Amino acid sequence: MSSENLHPETIAVSSGRPESEPGAGVNIPISLNSTFVASGPVSYGRFGNETWSQLESAISQLEDATSTLVFASGMSAITAAFSILPHGAVVVASHEGYSGTMSLLTRHHADGRLDVRFVDITDTKEVLAQLQGAAFLWVESPTNPGLGVAEVSVIIGEAKKRNMGVGFDNTFATPLTQKPLTFGADIVMHSVTKYLAGHSDVLIGSLSVKDPALHARLLDARTSFGAIAGPFEVWLALRGLRTFPLRFNRAQENAAALAKKLSSHSAVSKVRYPGFGAVISFEIAGDAELAEKICNASKLITNATSLGGIESTWERRRRWPIESQSIPENLIRFSVGCEHVEDLWRDIDTALSQG
Ligand SMILES: *Cc1c(COP(=O)(O)O)cnc(C)c1O
Repeated sequence: MSSENLHPETIAVSSGRPESEPGAGVNIPISLNSTFVASGPVSYGRFGNETWSQLESAISQLEDATSTLVFASGMSAITAAFSILPHGAVVVASHEGYSGTMSLLTRHHADGRLDVRFVDITDTKEVLAQLQGAAFLWVESPTNPGLGVAEVSVIIGEAKKRNMGVGFDNTFATPLTQKPLTFGADIVMHSVTKYLAGHSDVLIGSLSVKDPALHARLLDARTSFGAIAGPFEVWLALRGLRTFPLRFNRAQENAAALAKKLSSHSAVSKVRYPGFGAVISFEIAGDAELAEKICNASKLITNATSLGGIESTWERRRRWPIESQSIPENLIRFSVGCEHVEDLWRDIDTALSQG
């Protein structure tokens, strides 16, 4: 059956299963093998794994990709994507993106490995001006943690007109709200760790593409750098992916309701919520110390980094020295989970009364 006719809810449940035949398991096995009998599709554990292939095919279907490669983490996927650029290539990227991506690009820039132009990705005019002479555009939208939204079809369209490569970190939006390959991106990346796996128990990354030649180069990067995922972690990620649309839709509903309530709370000075997705960033009417106090005062919501888990978490982002300096000191990034929205609101309301 072609995945083109299937809804994401169905793809998440039905893809990445073994062939249906009498006696076959309904779930894939965890392939714990470093080597395989010669002349088969996979010969060595660093080159491929049956368990990986099933998660890869599920993510490909969700993103309308031809192929996907899974990695040991989101960052190892990002590292592989930048590794295929030639020495000194000019890269345009968001100055307020995920802190790990920014520190990697800052390091590449300092080393002379890449020539990085950091831009406000939501400022289309600035982005277009900086595309001049560039080889690669890296888009993260909405941005982490500022939740800025880029005019993705405009900036990607312009980059493609200039024959640039385009990579897209789709961790926050997920294929349920946008599919970057369908508006021209060459590579779509996920921190599968977040919504796709969704249970705060594994780190996995992925890169999905349409072009087989690009796939071959990224596969070569994965094989030679060796940043491969453990089969057990991949099995858990695929198990988590089964409920990804259910979880994401529920979390998104909760987030929309809570963003509204937060906006009219006197202890909150500013709410950033792009109108989709399940992350809310808000500034409290007070300083960093008060923001920390609030994060620690909640009972249901855990003061922890990361996002996209079934359980709600929040944290003050500037507690991380590598976080962008343009992110306010009193900003709390709130990853809304799947608890009942009324319970969450009661918890938030109590925590906010700390001030
Ligand atoms: C978490 C995250 C990453 C990095 O992924 P890891 O799995 O932690 O290595 C990259 N981009 C975004 C937007 C993220 O939230």
